[in-house]
Amino acid sequence: MKLIDKYNRAHSYLRLSVTGNCNLNCIYCNPLTSDELISKHSLSNQEIIRLARIFVTLFEFSKIRLTGGEPFARKNIIELFEELSILKKEFPFELAVTTNGTLLNGKLKKLKELGLDRLNFSLDSLIPERYAQITGKNVQSKVLHTIDEAESEGFLNTKINTVVIRNVNDDEIPDFIEYSIKTGRNIRFIEYMPFSNNGYDKDGFISSKELLNTINKSYKLTPDELDAGFVAKDYLIKNTNARISFISPISDHFCGLCNRLRITADGKLKLCLFSPHKTEIDLLNFIRNGFPDEQIKDSISNALLEKDFAHPEIDDLIQLKNNDIISLGG
Ligand code: SAM
Repeated sequence: MKLIDKYNRAHSYLRLSVTGNCNLNCIYCNPLTSDELISKHSLSNQEIIRLARIFVTLFEFSKIRLTGGEPFARKNIIELFEELSILKKEFPFELAVTTNGTLLNGKLKKLKELGLDRLNFSLDSLIPERYAQITGKNVQSKVLHTIDEAESEGFLNTKINTVVIRNVNDDEIPDFIEYSIKTGRNIRFIEYMPFSNNGYDKDGFISSKELLNTINKSYKLTPDELDAGFVAKDYLIKNTNARISFISPISDHFCGLCNRLRITADGKLKLCLFSPHKTEIDLLNFIRNGFPDEQIKDSISNALLEKDFAHPEIDDLIQLKNNDIISLGG
């Protein structure tokens, strides 16, 4: 059965936060100021697999992305991939992960064998010292090395996520474009979003449109005709392999076509990054109280009826409480 909401949007993509912990402390995310998730309230591997199975088999979901926190900061993450790999063989789906890339050393071959399909890396500066200022750790070279290693292990279409913040890293846009020209890697410029605990500074916000206008003064970007996605708007630079994308959750949100649901590291179903708490349901509680799959399935279907057509505008988002990205998963 397809999971369709009242706006006729069929949901098929699950973003699963596998931990609320992170080894970095990015200035726009600030995990160290978030409440620590108590481990007994976090999903176990078995519970994650149970939920993944429900979404894939009962709702025909075709894609699962692991996120967090930092997925590779989870202790038993490789065992989790092993179990997902078994599920995937039985019921095929696309398996992706978003990572800061700093804890992956030596794990990529195994991940490829276990059926990981896609990797997105976060990289907000090409300048090592600035990377350290943004993330709190001087580990940028590890990320660059891991991206190289991922490509050698056969991970294709690796994407690089860059949150652009005015007066923090916006001066590096040409460098990121040159990096994309040089490596052929897809750079995705993401608009800076407000979350609780991220000390949001509205002056730091730069819309994708402004960014595109600035870039167009020096480079000739042309929309990618083959772009089938709706979250990122893809552009190509003539006579190069560069692909530059813009993700505009604030200025040009893609809610109308949303096909995503999220599960937080402590097992809550989130209808949207910015959905109100009253619409969350506690899937972990259902599992630990012995609810059968069918009952969990019905609860998810009912919860979806509460999904709004779009998230509020930026001034209202700034006011949202208890909405830290680290536990809900970016
Ligand atoms: N630790 C992993 C990583 O660094 O990619 C996964 C979790 S992180 C929360 C997922 C994505 O959310 C990253 O690409 C990050 O840049 C993005 N993100 C976090 N806070 C953000 C914010 N305030 N605005 C825009 N994107 C944000």
